[in-house]
Amino acid sequence: MKSKEEIVKEMQLVVEQMRLDDIEENPDCEHEFFTCNACGQTKDLAGSVQYGPYRLCNDCVLLAEVGFELGQLKDIQGLIDAMEDKRLEADCEFIKEEEKRKQALDSAELN
Ligand SMILES: [Zn+2]
Repeated sequence: MKSKEEIVKEMQLVVEQMRLDDIEENPDCEHEFFTCNACGQTKDLAGSVQYGPYRLCNDCVLLAEVGFELGQLKDIQGLIDAMEDKRLEADCEFIKEEEKRKQALDSAELN
């Protein structure tokens, strides 16, 4: 029986590899964005996964896969429902995220 930490670490590698594979197959998708159906944020198309009617960003794919692995989720609808509050917050949050991203870019340019 694996610990939760082990499962999360393992899944992080798997999900990150999906993102890298996407970029390798289609380098343009690194600069393409979409609105995640789970968290409601604008995210990179690279590393996103289609689950039935929903397209999830790389971060939410990690949540979904860990949830399935731990038996906390039985289907993707469970995650979509659980993320509902987060989607409502996303409209306000994305402005802050943009700020953070800009600041990160600025400091990266300085270095
Ligand atoms: Zn998401």
